[in-house]
Amino acid sequence: MRWIDLLLPRICRLCDAPVDGDIDLCPPCWRSLPWNLRACGRCGLPLADDSRLCVRCAAKPPPFTRTIAPLLFAGATPKLVYAIKFGRGFAEAKLLARLLADAVAAAADPLPDALVPVPLTTGRLLRRGHNQAVLLARPLARRFGIPLHRADVRRTGSGKSQRGQTRAARAGSVRGAFRAVRPLAGRAAIVDDVMTTGATASELAQTLIAAGMDEVVIWTAARVA
Ligand SMILES: [Zn+2]
Ligand SMILES: [Zn+2]
Repeated sequence: MRWIDLLLPRICRLCDAPVDGDIDLCPPCWRSLPWNLRACGRCGLPLADDSRLCVRCAAKPPPFTRTIAPLLFAGATPKLVYAIKFGRGFAEAKLLARLLADAVAAAADPLPDALVPVPLTTGRLLRRGHNQAVLLARPLARRFGIPLHRADVRRTGSGKSQRGQTRAARAGSVRGAFRAVRPLAGRAAIVDDVMTTGATASELAQTLIAAGMDEVVIWTAARVA
């Protein structure tokens, strides 16, 4: 705990109610979050029944082997995500990282050797001033004692927003977007704020595997249904 935490009363990030636990969410807001409880083990897509894999992963498995995505991108999640992405929502980042870390701990998978936050293009990083995936990955690296590899992969290309694009268009626009700057090894967890179609995660996972990584999993705070 840092000294500043002792001076500032904790408040719920969603309703501003004072909280006294070690997480910035009051119990009613915690319960009201859109938890992604029944999801495809491979890509995190919410499922309607108890199957292990979604139809898409069963037919054509993605290059990553597992996705941990505690929240759906619904309800209060967009508010938290946009506060990190477009503001400088450090408190929101800490909160989402905590929810993601708890989900990782609950999954009890073997821990990866490296955390790779999804890189932004240099242009976008300069405009925004921060990378939301790095803000999420830092507390995860600390909690699990896993090195953060934020300079191993670069993102090239236009960095054009994928928002509003179809699944096929997203896959096309992100193809060849990442480049590993050195040979890699071991297991990696890609860290991101939101996984939409999985096109970005797939492309980055493929890049890491081509650079020598044995296995890649995804840790993302939220999943678009
Ligand atoms: Zn609340
Ligand atoms: Zn799936």
